[in-house]
Amino acid sequence: MSVQIKFLGGVRTVTGSSHLLSTRFSRVLIDCGLFYGHRDESYQSNSSFKYHPGKLNAVLLSHAHIDHCGNIPSLVKRGLRCKIYTTSATKDLCKLMLADSGKIQEEDARYVNKINRRLGQPFRKPLYTSKEGRRSLRKFRPLFYRQRFKITKDITCTFYDAAHILGSGIIVLDIKDDRQGVIRLGYAVDLGRKGLPLLNEPTIIEDMDYLILESTYGGRLHSPIKEARNKLKDAINRTIERRGKVIIPSFALERAQEIIYFLNELIRDKEIPPVPIYVDSPLTTNITEVFRTHYGYLDEETRVTMKSKKEGPFDFVNLNYVRDRNESKALNNDKRPMIIIAGSGMCEAGRVLHHLKNSITESKNTVLVVGYMAENTLGRKIVERQRYVRIYGVEYELNAEVVIINAFSGHADKNELLEYVKSCLPIKKVFIVHGDRAQSQSIFDILSQSGINTYMPEKNEEVVLLSR
Ligand SMILES: [Zn+2]
Ligand SMILES: [Zn+2]
Repeated sequence: MSVQIKFLGGVRTVTGSSHLLSTRFSRVLIDCGLFYGHRDESYQSNSSFKYHPGKLNAVLLSHAHIDHCGNIPSLVKRGLRCKIYTTSATKDLCKLMLADSGKIQEEDARYVNKINRRLGQPFRKPLYTSKEGRRSLRKFRPLFYRQRFKITKDITCTFYDAAHILGSGIIVLDIKDDRQGVIRLGYAVDLGRKGLPLLNEPTIIEDMDYLILESTYGGRLHSPIKEARNKLKDAINRTIERRGKVIIPSFALERAQEIIYFLNELIRDKEIPPVPIYVDSPLTTNITEVFRTHYGYLDEETRVTMKSKKEGPFDFVNLNYVRDRNESKALNNDKRPMIIIAGSGMCEAGRVLHHLKNSITESKNTVLVVGYMAENTLGRKIVERQRYVRIYGVEYELNAEVVIINAFSGHADKNELLEYVKSCLPIKKVFIVHGDRAQSQSIFDILSQSGINTYMPEKNEEVVLLSR
């Protein structure tokens, strides 16, 4: 039997990453992400598999974002027996992310069942519960970066730093084929950028035959990260001068820690006044704890400060982690200028809602948008600066200043993707995945024009891999 890769998900779209590698002796799944679409379509897609989970020999996980790991609990529920290999930081992040994802699945099922009850339709079980999310961790087996590990009779895997988020890996597979040749397959989904705070640079991998590459920003360019820092500084200074509050709706994993890192720097360098900063999200607080534990994964600058000083980037005088709901609500009555970082990132749930409700009607305050806001979310309405927005069913006039900073992205843009592939050459073929159609097409064109053999698989397409 030849060596084959089947592109099951995260193809011509950015969610639901999953790919199946088959050889004579093994079936290995790379990523098992949650697919996001319309509610029923997502439920359908996430609860059925095109293979038997019990027959897999290994699962490899690139990083802890839900679009890569979020459907692992479903795999486990449906009889997965093998180990899930990933880095130790990803394992610890998944413990929090999958429990949180399970909580969202439970809330979602409750919401659907309220409607189903009214319509007299059968009840729906959550895709998985918070407990099932946590339980799937038992299958995880952590590896270090650069640790070569034989996962099956004919496949060895190695994780390298992808510099996308804490613990993220470029996965390299050395696969023996029937003719005793070796095929080297690289998986850079997602791929980070140079110069991101806290992280190293993406590792250059040599001698690859094939590379599976993400293309989230395959046709776009990011502003330099320095620009993000300056915009952050200016927005905070303007707001404090007005004696207002800065509300930052933030994603718990990586983006929140990057913001905290920059705030620490800005205060240390006296570029902003030392106002109180509140991290008002239990998930963010717990994830930040994982950053502290796994500081060995971070860049040298951060590693040195975290090792030598009591006050690191995540612990400084002005920074407060809010645990208690009452403490969170009490911030509404605190009229001092301050910075509040709260989830959820897209303002669909979580404590950020009551902070927004409390502050968006006043022009002295600022909502600082640092991440992607999907269509139909409250976050998107704020980005569009709609005159009125609805929070907890009540309309509020949006008078606060809205500042949007796009440069925080953890994905390589089109130039960075091209530069990365060029520095890994020669490669027999590059497969483009994980991007909207236009973005994938764009990086496909760019790589092809540079003389690189590139292919854009369709969803569920299977491709034969050949040794040299
Ligand atoms: Zn990611
Ligand atoms: Zn992704």
